[in-house]
Amino acid sequence: PADVEALGRSSWTLLHSISATYPVAPTTQEQSDVKSFLGLFGKLYPCWVCAEDFQEYMEREKIKASSRDEFGRWLCGAHNEVNRKLGKKEFDCNLWEERWRTGWKD
Ligand code: FAD
Repeated sequence: PADVEALGRSSWTLLHSISATYPVAPTTQEQSDVKSFLGLFGKLYPCWVCAEDFQEYMEREKIKASSRDEFGRWLCGAHNEVNRKLGKKEFDCNLWEERWRTGWKD
């Protein structure tokens, strides 16, 4: 339904924007914060099927966040997992930073 889609678009914008401003060389604390955030985000995400699958994904594919690029790519992979599930085109993760940090219009 429309609200799951609007919620999804806004949420991906938030998540990818967080990766775009994530430090290039994060401290242990910053790495731990982003992992806690995503863990809670996955629990509280207000679409229960989405939340359940996302939590399962995070169990299978542990969050990688030892650098901005690593986290950006991990998140791109998580988003691609949902793209595959919904029959959408996969996104080229080499372009994640161009899309979400240095910018293009969509
Ligand atoms: P979106 O998928 O919302 O993407 C927005 C923009 O992000 C795109 O236009 C593109 O420029 C860019 N983008 C696309 N793929 C990537 C990528 N891999 N990396 C970086 N940028 C990318 N919907 C469901 O129906 N069922 C679900 O189970 C479900 N689970 C979700 C789980 C999570 C954690 C989130 C945040 C959303 C989920 N959604 C789910 C919503 C779904 O992913 C889409 O947001 C929604 O269908 C709207 O899709 P869209 O085509 O507008 O683009």
